[in-house]
Amino acid sequence: MTDIIEFMRIGSLPKGEKEGMKIRMKAPNYELRGEILYRKSCLDASLRCVGPKEAAMIIDDVHKGSCGLHYGWRIVTERIKRLGYYWPRMYADTAERVRVCQEC
Ligand SMILES: [Zn+2]
Repeated sequence: MTDIIEFMRIGSLPKGEKEGMKIRMKAPNYELRGEILYRKSCLDASLRCVGPKEAAMIIDDVHKGSCGLHYGWRIVTERIKRLGYYWPRMYADTAERVRVCQEC
């Protein structure tokens, strides 16, 4: 996501023709509002893009829920999307983080 932000902010692309092309292809799917990157969505409002640390906190919060129910990764991922967050590996990251939860 950092490469997309840099491309949208100042037009710089990562080294390598393939990497640059990848960013150019992906960029139209995103919108930069101030310092915050959003992923455009056809069906819902735009999803706010988050980095790894923020994603981990979101997964933990949603997984444990307000009642400490420790929801499964599919439910957690769908709830995170409904809350309006996005990151490229959100399904895999959520599945992995929920799988290694010590309290479950
Ligand atoms: Zn758990």
